[in-house]
Amino acid sequence: KAKDSGRNKVIVFEDKMADAANRLRQLKADCKQALAEEQFFLVFQPQINSETKQIIGAEALIRWRHPERGVISPGEFIPLLEEAGLMTKVGQWVLKKSIETTADWHNQNLVHDGFKISINVSPQQFRQSGFADEVQSIIHDYSLEAQLINLEITESMIIDDIAHTASSMNDLRNIGINFSIDDFGTGYSNLNYLKQLPLDVIKVDQSFIRDLLNDQNSIAIVHTILTMAKQLKLTTIAEGVETNEQLLELKKMGCHVYQGYLYSPPVEAERFQQLLTD
Ligand code: C2E
Ligand code: MG
Ligand code: MG
Ligand code: MG
Repeated sequence: KAKDSGRNKVIVFEDKMADAANRLRQLKADCKQALAEEQFFLVFQPQINSETKQIIGAEALIRWRHPERGVISPGEFIPLLEEAGLMTKVGQWVLKKSIETTADWHNQNLVHDGFKISINVSPQQFRQSGFADEVQSIIHDYSLEAQLINLEITESMIIDDIAHTASSMNDLRNIGINFSIDDFGTGYSNLNYLKQLPLDVIKVDQSFIRDLLNDQNSIAIVHTILTMAKQLKLTTIAEGVETNEQLLELKKMGCHVYQGYLYSPPVEAERFQQLLTD
């Protein structure tokens, strides 16, 4: 092994590079085609007020119906698109499509007052200099009030550059857009940002909800998050609620908005519309 010639190593290395370059080229072509042929689609998961049982919002989640590979989940393709620098374009599509769909529901009077669409924003998309303007121009195109929009960001994109994050968020906050911090408690960041950024909602990560009933530590963590959120006057949403027992525990702890399979998995727009009229 130690005697491997330098030449062989170079060849192996070049093979790998060629492979990676090919994969990247393929991904770029696939993504371009996906945008052109509408292979991406959105599913919507209701957010429920457990007191009133009303649907108070929806989270838009992207899917990719790939011609050869079937429906691929975002956990699989977003990291690849992000690495290839393609998430800006795809994120723009997500913004447009979710705002278009919400405007449609709103115009049909299907949603309650205060309904919000939650849209996940990728780090790359958020870092783009024209992001705030882009959001403004899309809501203008669909004549949707900014108050109906909630952007979900993650802790990891905040620590990258808090000054830029804050200024971009403030621009959007000034026109009425809300912000959630997604997957709260998994980001390993210090909590200083909570007082520097215009936030409205903390989404308690589903890992804490999953272990809520059999792990004292998860109970303690959720309790702490809820207490802190209350003091900071932030709303809390529990993610990934699957059982009635979890919901009861959350209610007891004072968290009244949730998302999860217990109520409904993410569903396509037509089905969501049915849920709204049920
Ligand atoms: P997320 O934003 O934290 O979304 C919640 C995820 O939990 C979704 O997975 C949803 O389907 C899943 N989920 C909902 N209820 C339950 C439940 O009761 N149990 C369990 N086990 N899971 C539940 P999904 O749709 O696969 O999305 C995964 C992640 O991909 C999202 O996590 C988000 O970070 C990202 N993502 C999805 N759509 C988009 C998008 O349009 N743009 C960006 N930038 N990221 C997106
Ligand atoms: Mg989310
Ligand atoms: Mg989440
Ligand atoms: Mg998540």
